[in-house]
Amino acid sequence: MNQVYIGIGSNQNHPHFRVQRAFKQINRIHETRLIRKSSLYETVPLGPKFQPNFINAVVEIETMLSPNKLLEELQLLEKNHNRKKTKRWGPRSLDLDILIYEQVIMDTEKLIIPHPGLKYREFVLIPLYEITSYGYKVPKYGNINKLIKNL
Ligand code: AMP
Repeated sequence: MNQVYIGIGSNQNHPHFRVQRAFKQINRIHETRLIRKSSLYETVPLGPKFQPNFINAVVEIETMLSPNKLLEELQLLEKNHNRKKTKRWGPRSLDLDILIYEQVIMDTEKLIIPHPGLKYREFVLIPLYEITSYGYKVPKYGNINKLIKNL
């Protein structure tokens, strides 16, 4: 089983409800189970400000799926939430990002792991901190306590 962290965000159409539904839907992905989930965090949007606040969370899962297969499943879930592709950083019903996949470091056209935004984003680091142990080491980026201090 591979230990993976996924970032979840929503700021459209009942975001609390959507994030909680995403927890259940992620647990239902084949060969995958939800291990731990963070609290829900309300955050001010990056980029365009004239949009609702986001609800963000991070979950830990165990999966037998490869990074690419997992991405496909997550993208299906995003589609099911009627996410319309709008502008970058614009409103979205559900956004799912693979933050960390075991100790994998990869950079392909489709998939960058660990997620490159991870170290700049409080709404990822704080919930990740909540569900990992003190001094957890993020592959490539190092100690989570230091990453948070640097923000
Ligand atoms: P976004 O607008 O954040 O939903 O970006 C979606 C695109 O990011 C997709 O086309 C993915 O192929 C790509 N992507 C690259 N790295 C990742 C990652 N670690 N997790 C999720 N999507 C990723």
